[in-house]
Amino acid sequence: MPAELNASSLYFSPISPSHKQTAGKEGYGRYMLTVPWSRTSGWGQPKIGPRQDISVDPLAGVLQYAVTCFEGMKCYKDDQGKLRLFRPAKNFDRLKRSAARVGLPDQWDNDELLDLLGKLLDLESDIVPAVDGENLYIRPTLIETSESFGIKDDAYASDALLYIVTSLNLGKGLYASSEGEGIRLDACSKFIRAWPGGHGSYKLGANYGTVQVAKRPGYAMSLWLHTVDGKEYLSEAGGMNVWVIKEAKDGVIEFTTMGLDNGIVLPGVTRESIIELLNDHASGKAEFPIAGMPKNIRVVERDISMDEIREGVKDGSLKGMFGCGTGVVVVQIGSITSQGQEYKIPTNPVIRLLRDAVTGIQRGKIEHGDWSYVIPEWDGKQREHDVDGQKAIA
Ligand SMILES: *Cc1c(COP(=O)(O)O)cnc(C)c1O
Repeated sequence: MPAELNASSLYFSPISPSHKQTAGKEGYGRYMLTVPWSRTSGWGQPKIGPRQDISVDPLAGVLQYAVTCFEGMKCYKDDQGKLRLFRPAKNFDRLKRSAARVGLPDQWDNDELLDLLGKLLDLESDIVPAVDGENLYIRPTLIETSESFGIKDDAYASDALLYIVTSLNLGKGLYASSEGEGIRLDACSKFIRAWPGGHGSYKLGANYGTVQVAKRPGYAMSLWLHTVDGKEYLSEAGGMNVWVIKEAKDGVIEFTTMGLDNGIVLPGVTRESIIELLNDHASGKAEFPIAGMPKNIRVVERDISMDEIREGVKDGSLKGMFGCGTGVVVVQIGSITSQGQEYKIPTNPVIRLLRDAVTGIQRGKIEHGDWSYVIPEWDGKQREHDVDGQKAIA
């Protein structure tokens, strides 16, 4: 029987608390978590040790065929100094889904992984900022370390590595730009990020490397489009889900985001959370956590065409646009440039309300069911001081 992921077999290799990051890498967490996996023996011993390079065979699946997937999460510090994660099981489940898509191991107990991640983060507690919009970004990654070369009996990896590293304040700049005019998007017709039957809805490394060449200076990110019957529709922007606020014919304010059915859109945790918050508010199930959200609202999941955006700007029915994701939280879209023309998108105060509500829940200032997970303190961390002691003697 292949072994299951087991947090209690953790091997911890502490570094001295006076340890300095290598030049240029100061913004990264000092530690990393690694767990090897093989098809025959299952999950190996988890290890938390100094962040370091990984070595793999030159024909490893990750290098040759991009057999890799990842997650993006954030660790927040609340005003009491406690570390928090936002709906972490959602990210772990999505990592399993992505892993299955590329033949990587997709079975483990999320609670074991959460236990290990909590310990990794507790070690970095000192560097996690307790400020809205700031965070320690977490990058869980799965790679195929075995050769995926030539014809195999089946498509599944024989060896893989799960690792988690951290870095400071991803998305901090974009978070702040919600206060001004919003970000500029470049509607991209040249490169298509995702298509029906493709893999755009999975967080695969391959989805990002192949389209990053589209990025043009002067724009915050590309607005991805896909075409149906010759007509261009919005799919996502950079690595965020897109929302359009419109006044419908019946006077209701519609919050529209692209549906998940055609497999083009990444099922964002932030997207899902905003849908829940707005739906609960509209139905009267739970008041929106911050005052000022209008009552006559509706959430709609459907495709929106570029033509509809152009018309909405012209006739005034478009009341705002924003993107959402772990990196940016919620960011206002200020303009879209499409086929040489820039369309100004109106600002809307509800975007700020959404951002502050999600940030408030993430930082534990607003209670919302079990959405915010408090990381327990880990006494194993004390061993860092033992290392320091040894150094003093040596
Ligand atoms: C990660 C990601 C998102 C946002 O997902 P969250 O779970 O909210 O962080 C949206 N679009 C793409 C393409 C992504 O990679």
